[in-house]
Amino acid sequence: MSLKGKTAIVTGGSRGIGKAIAIKLAQQGANIVINDVVELEKMESAVTEVKAFGVDCEALKADVSNEEEVKDMVKTVIDKFGGIDILVNNAGITRDGLLVKMKESDWELVMDVNLKGVFNCTKGVIRSMMSKRSGCIVNISSVVGITGNPGQANYSASKAGIIGFTKSVAKEVGARNVRVNAVAPGFINTDMTDGLPEAVKEKFMENIPLGRYGDAEEVAEVVAFLCEDRSRYVTGQVITVDGGMAL
Ligand code: NAP
Repeated sequence: MSLKGKTAIVTGGSRGIGKAIAIKLAQQGANIVINDVVELEKMESAVTEVKAFGVDCEALKADVSNEEEVKDMVKTVIDKFGGIDILVNNAGITRDGLLVKMKESDWELVMDVNLKGVFNCTKGVIRSMMSKRSGCIVNISSVVGITGNPGQANYSASKAGIIGFTKSVAKEVGARNVRVNAVAPGFINTDMTDGLPEAVKEKFMENIPLGRYGDAEEVAEVVAFLCEDRSRYVTGQVITVDGGMAL
């Protein structure tokens, strides 16, 4: 129970990798705030699964790309839990397409959710963490933010942006004992990857030395490590969880 008594916000936490992270942090004793953009009823099953570990869990609806909604969410969490120890910026979307056909709206939406969302949530919690001289932020990037990927110029740029953001903020807040790291998953079995054409999936598989796709729990394990005291001297890092795909 290495996170007993801590409070963690997991954005986009009602399904996929976010839900696995919420469950893993709850297993370690953290109280969990599941954020998502969907209606509260759709977050109920994740809340029930988290509460099964005997921790407190609240679902809060907020669009991470909306600064005011994020501010309200952070205020609600601080009022209820007395502070925030962990923020996992997991919410993310894709709007794939080759650059020649990519609409400006597809560029903007992906940047707003994936990159501005990370900015909004981090800015929202950072003062509280700095004044407590303790805090841990994990940003979910992607291997395509490191390697690039055809058809994902918007998504890859947003995920590369997260890496630059992570390193910069880690340098800004390290002196206050706030750590900021990124996890870059490879191909993970979730709704996000389910819909990809078989040919695209096969292409990914050719480049995965471990010869299989990853599970959300395998990403959650690394996120949990980065939130725990075991990683207290690790900050500004990008850890790939990709079966070797980015090698
Ligand atoms: P997912 O199954 O599509 O889940 C994404 C979650 O984010 C959903 O619950 C979604 O809500 C939520 N969300 C979307 N827009 C939001 C917003 N504006 N505000 C708050 N929440 C929002 O995706 P996933 O595969 O679990 O991915 C989670 C993270 O890992 C993402 O950042 C993704 O880019 C990254 N990642 C995934 C893979 C992979 O292979 N799956 C690989 C590398 C990186 P809705 O239910 O409303 O859509």
